[in-house]
Amino acid sequence: MPPQRTLAILKPDCVHQHLIGEVLRRIQEADFTIRALRMVRLSKAEAETFYAVHRERPFFDELTDFMSSGPCVPAVLEKENAIVDFRSLIGATDPNEAEDGTVRADFASSVQENIVHGADSPENAEREAAFFFSERELVS
Ligand code: ATP
Ligand code: MG
Repeated sequence: MPPQRTLAILKPDCVHQHLIGEVLRRIQEADFTIRALRMVRLSKAEAETFYAVHRERPFFDELTDFMSSGPCVPAVLEKENAIVDFRSLIGATDPNEAEDGTVRADFASSVQENIVHGADSPENAEREAAFFFSERELVS
């Protein structure tokens, strides 16, 4: 079986706080292989499409404003158990509940501005990777 893939996004607060290097360093130190990486600024409509599963949630409008507020850095990461391991590396959604030493515990300023996104299932990882990258942009 090939290693699993996940889709990560270094969110606009990560870019704005000059934390791209530090977060990528932690990702590589944790033995993820970066298969694709780019910087992009999402439009409001693109952020709404990406987070469509949260359309009915009260924070949807704020979340999509935030995600389109500046550039972000999506990446496809590969590792055995990538999805669960990446979510362990970043910690709980709310930085107050995130374990010490996780990216969100160390850098997130709120439950919304929480530095990174990680896909939560293989199906979503695939859908989200295809949202940002074509097949030929996944470097082997
Ligand atoms: P992500 O999907 O970004 O990796 P997550 O899976 O930990 O985060 P979700 O429940 O999928 O959390 O929420 C998606 C994003 O919506 C969160 O990362 C956060 O930016 C925002 N969010 C979640 N809950 C709230 C909330 N109660 N108030 C404001 N924003 C929230
Ligand atoms: Mg999520």
